[in-house]
Amino acid sequence: MIHGTKSYTMAATQTSETKLHSDTHKSVDTSRILEVFDIQQDNRYNISTTTAKERIEKLEKLKDALYAHKDAFRAALQKDFRKSFAETDLTELYPVVNEIKYVIKHLEEWLEPQKVGAPTVLLGTKSHLRYEAKGVVLIIAPWNYPVNLTLMPLVSAIAAGNCVILKPSELTPHTSALLKTFIEKLFNPYEVAVFEGGVDVSQALLKLPFDHIFFTGSTAVGKIVMKAAAENLASVTLELGGKSPVIVDKTANLADTAKKIAWGKFTNCGQTCIAPDYILVEDSIADDLISLTIQQIKKFYGESAKERMLSPDYARIVNNHHFERIKNLIADAKGKGAKVHIGGTAIAEQRYIAPTILSNVNEDCQIMKEEIFGPVLPIITYSNVAEAIYSIRKKGKPLALYIFSQDKHRIEEIMAHTTAGGTCINDVLLHYFQHNLPFGGVNQSGIGKSHGFYGFEAFSNARAVLEQPTRLSAAQLTYPPYNNDVQTFIDFTLKWI
Ligand code: NAD
Repeated sequence: MIHGTKSYTMAATQTSETKLHSDTHKSVDTSRILEVFDIQQDNRYNISTTTAKERIEKLEKLKDALYAHKDAFRAALQKDFRKSFAETDLTELYPVVNEIKYVIKHLEEWLEPQKVGAPTVLLGTKSHLRYEAKGVVLIIAPWNYPVNLTLMPLVSAIAAGNCVILKPSELTPHTSALLKTFIEKLFNPYEVAVFEGGVDVSQALLKLPFDHIFFTGSTAVGKIVMKAAAENLASVTLELGGKSPVIVDKTANLADTAKKIAWGKFTNCGQTCIAPDYILVEDSIADDLISLTIQQIKKFYGESAKERMLSPDYARIVNNHHFERIKNLIADAKGKGAKVHIGGTAIAEQRYIAPTILSNVNEDCQIMKEEIFGPVLPIITYSNVAEAIYSIRKKGKPLALYIFSQDKHRIEEIMAHTTAGGTCINDVLLHYFQHNLPFGGVNQSGIGKSHGFYGFEAFSNARAVLEQPTRLSAAQLTYPPYNNDVQTFIDFTLKWI
């Protein structure tokens, strides 16, 4: 084994205390963090030189362990925010298992050196591109899909041949603790390690010179992560949030639209980064859309308010802070004239917020100024699509933009005059599951892409290799001294080659 240099240890120890105190009242074991980081640095070339077959074996082990721990993950997510078993299977375990299967199918092909042609001036040379591991990488995850959003990037990082440190969210403590024991059973910490904890642990980790930082979370914390990464010029993938709008025009199939919107909005109690945040609907069909969406909510979760509250399929808000925040968003909108069509109730002891639809919401309402991240759906009307486009553009570049329409010309018009990380036409959320497409945001909703090849690419360095098989090359004709012959050749090159 060839050992790496350890200049990072100096940088890290200069800026961090040996013991910091975390917001979760657990001390941050900085020396253990440094120890693991140090040994991962030493181990990185052992991991980066593993073959596709060896990486596939690790991914197979991870997949089998996920199946074997299905009940444990279901139980942990029930405890954390009463997530239903079916939603845990569909939104936490299935995407990871499916990603593993896809990566296993393609990894050998991705790791093959890719030959590229030579331009005339380099005739005779051979060039290829090879994806090599970035090295030692950090993955910081949020709470809303704590298994999925910790393990999906891990799959890509392993596929690319990296050593990995994972930091799950402190807001889902049962799932976070389970992830730690789960990973510790599968991997040597010198290849994959988990550090639990909150902001203090995250910040202690961010001081270290990782080769890549993959962060999923809020836009505000994304900025902190990017600043920390800049100190070490670490590359970043930032999977952030924001308001993801839906445009519905009068050509849309309304019953189908209502069903899909209700599913996308209220799954995980609205705590989904790509959930429809608010609806912009053509005014002539707004009443119909509202009543069809109400019908759909009742079909999903129960006819009466009590049945919906007792529904085992409806999750809870993750903590009191977010419960109060969402409750206040409803109160603020109501105070400014919003009408509640269904829901509006909030029960603190259970952190329950009923599936809620609001209309008559104006841009002054706080709910239109921040990502809702909860089960409240504002429905806003427009008479001209230009108004809808303008209102979307004012709020920055969304992570997802959804269009419900049968009018191809209108769909193209909306696409051409907006930008977004991803778009589903006549559906919601499903682009997340399409691993042939890159997933991610744009500017304030994110930087970089993940999933499938794009995830593998995020954790890889695309190394450019040119091989000169002969002693002579055309380039030598341009070497100094720059006499007339050389200048003639340069002139010829400039004009013709
Ligand atoms: P968050 O930004 O509060 O926390 C994310 C992670 O960062 C956690 O592990 C947390 O411990 C850590 N963290 C928090 N504050 C920090 C700080 N000051 N310094 C360093 N680390 C810090 O986000 P969240 O509340 O866990 O998740 C919700 C947000 O994540 C929403 O905005 C949502 O849209 C976004 N999100 C995005 C995606 C995506 O794929 N784009 C997926 C899920 C969630």
